[in-house]
Amino acid sequence: MEQWQRTLADSIDSPAQLAGHFNVDPEPLAAVVARYPMRVTPHYLGLIREPGDPIWRQCVPDPLELCDDRQLDDPLDEERLSPVPGLIHRYPDRVVWLVSAVCAVYCRFCMRKRSVGCACGAPVSAALDRALDYIAANGEIRDVILSGGDPLLLADEVLDDLLSRLRRIDHVEIVRIGSRVPVTLPERITPKLCLMLKKHQPLYLNTHFNHPREITPESSAACAMLADAGIPLGNQSVLLRGVNDEPAVMKSLMQKLLAIRVRPYYIHQMDLVRGTGHFRTKVEQGIGIMEALRGHTSGLATPCFVIDLPGGKGKVPLLPEYLRREEGRLRVRNYLGEEAEYPDVAD
Ligand SMILES: *Cc1c(COP(=O)(O)O)cnc(C)c1O
Ligand code: SF4
Repeated sequence: MEQWQRTLADSIDSPAQLAGHFNVDPEPLAAVVARYPMRVTPHYLGLIREPGDPIWRQCVPDPLELCDDRQLDDPLDEERLSPVPGLIHRYPDRVVWLVSAVCAVYCRFCMRKRSVGCACGAPVSAALDRALDYIAANGEIRDVILSGGDPLLLADEVLDDLLSRLRRIDHVEIVRIGSRVPVTLPERITPKLCLMLKKHQPLYLNTHFNHPREITPESSAACAMLADAGIPLGNQSVLLRGVNDEPAVMKSLMQKLLAIRVRPYYIHQMDLVRGTGHFRTKVEQGIGIMEALRGHTSGLATPCFVIDLPGGKGKVPLLPEYLRREEGRLRVRNYLGEEAEYPDVAD
């Protein structure tokens, strides 16, 4: 067993263990955990300052998860868009491949709450073979996104084998890994892992920081090790009520990410997934955050704010209204709210 696997095994996964650290009543949380599993790593637990804070909200079960009856388990129709188990093929040129069903910390707002953390979801090797056969047989797939669950909870040897088999398919130009372990289990990013990943370039890694307090010496060191291995790092945040729905918090997060060489890629509007309603914000709030970023800080610190349309209709960027037409003339508004006429000529 590697050190990170021992650290992962030291995580807490029951309300009773949580009650050993904080003054909470574990009893009402038991039913939540029976439906949606809990796991909090030692590192992430150590970031909690008090019950209800932005770290706590992301990882500690809440009875509200069981009171959300209006939404669906799979609003993005991922299961309908799955040609073989574990693959989601929504856009012609790229696929999401769910290679792991487990995560270091079970985020309470997870869009795949229906399946992560349950023993049912772990792909067996026959399923991996079928997925690889599908990718190999579909020449239009040039981008493969490893997701889950968390692909970096696979052992180095297993991941190395998957990446090698993907790399043997000529039309697969790039591979991306989506992983939250730099944030939740930074011990997982080891020199041995980086040496292995380095062999499989061009490889991109998108991680998932949601709050400035998640940027710690440990998570910064994990990102530095990956960046030094030549792996471009991006970040996908989810806009979460009571966590990062204040413009100042989001701006600080984006700036701090750049300082650890992670480029903000997306801010996601919460998907309409059952059990996550207490995190949802109005779309206008996200637009307000984008207005507070664009022009007010580095363009590099300004990701796209996207909604993923229900029914698998795809991601759509949402922008503040900067443009309007007035009697055929183009009026453009800048970040200070000043409007100017733009001479829209092409000749
Ligand atoms: C998000 C997503 C992708 C990747 O989208 P990009 O905009 O290219 O990052 C691909 N497939 C599915 C099913 C997705 O949900
Ligand atoms: S790390 Fe990602 S897949 Fe895992 S629980 Fe969190 S949001 Fe879901």
